[in-house]
Amino acid sequence: MILTVTLNPSVDISYKLNQLEIDNVNRTSSVSKTAGGKGLNVTRVLFQANSPVIATGFKGGYLGAFIEDELNASQIKNSFYPIKEETRNCIAVLHEGNQTEILESGPYISTDELQGFIKHFEELMDEVQLVVFSGSLPAGVPVNYYSDLIKICNHKSIPVIADTSGIALTTLLERSNKPFAIKPNLDELSQILGYTVSENITEMKNALKHEMFNGIQWIFVSLGANGSIVKHADEYYKVNIPKIGVVNPVGSGDATVAGFASAYSKDKSVIEIIKTANTFGMLNAMEQQTGCINIDKFEGLYKQIKIIEV
Ligand code: ATP
Repeated sequence: MILTVTLNPSVDISYKLNQLEIDNVNRTSSVSKTAGGKGLNVTRVLFQANSPVIATGFKGGYLGAFIEDELNASQIKNSFYPIKEETRNCIAVLHEGNQTEILESGPYISTDELQGFIKHFEELMDEVQLVVFSGSLPAGVPVNYYSDLIKICNHKSIPVIADTSGIALTTLLERSNKPFAIKPNLDELSQILGYTVSENITEMKNALKHEMFNGIQWIFVSLGANGSIVKHADEYYKVNIPKIGVVNPVGSGDATVAGFASAYSKDKSVIEIIKTANTFGMLNAMEQQTGCINIDKFEGLYKQIKIIEV
């Protein structure tokens, strides 16, 4: 069983408009409301790939209940921890080929709730073989919270994939409890290193040798349409992917994480794990819905991926 952790989930609302009129009333009948957040994208993709998964995180109020109902309706196992404040909405307005977004920062998590979740998380560990942490930390959550959770996993020898950015990522890289794997994209990697990293192999290898990555088994640097560069132990791989018909690439990083988790939990080889992760990323980019793959197209893409040890 893979446990996904989404501490700041959202109800993602999408409104389609022919034209966005500023300072005026905009009406639409084209509305979609879905359970969102990076960890829930990972969850959905794992479920679609027939990998056993359970989702957790904080849920509050009606919107928290909506997320739970959505997951239950899709028969996705979940066990969210209740909080006092309301789970957030994130709104995307699709208009004239643009996407204008309004993202709520989300609920404030109290000290009692933080402690309560740790206990809840420890209980979930009993049935779990791999943990995925995705996304940002909601207000009230200390920057070292992921590290505290990783410490619990490390004690139980349960590997952790951490896909976060900014201060949450730098903090967890500074601590002694390291995740097993991280998946930064180029921007996230540049941000934590403090300079702009390019896709040049030599430069990338130097960047990934930085001491802040010591103790991390897998670093999966995703490069969008250009595939990825992967560090596993002391080996480096350049992953070349085929050209595909892209529909919506948002959430491809989350699908990549799902692919990694799925293959790793099935004891696949290093090359198979890398290929599966990239294939899932591409499969997501080929779908309209964020965090969604058509697993029937897996084989066709998988065999076109070329991996070179560099
Ligand atoms: P997000 O934050 O939206 O989840 P990300 O920036 O973390 O995305 P990307 O590097 O964009 O992740 O994509 C992850 C993987 O998905 C890539 O390594 C690649 O395999 C696949 N992918 C993404 N975009 C494309 C694309 N335009 N064409 C082909 N494959 C893509």
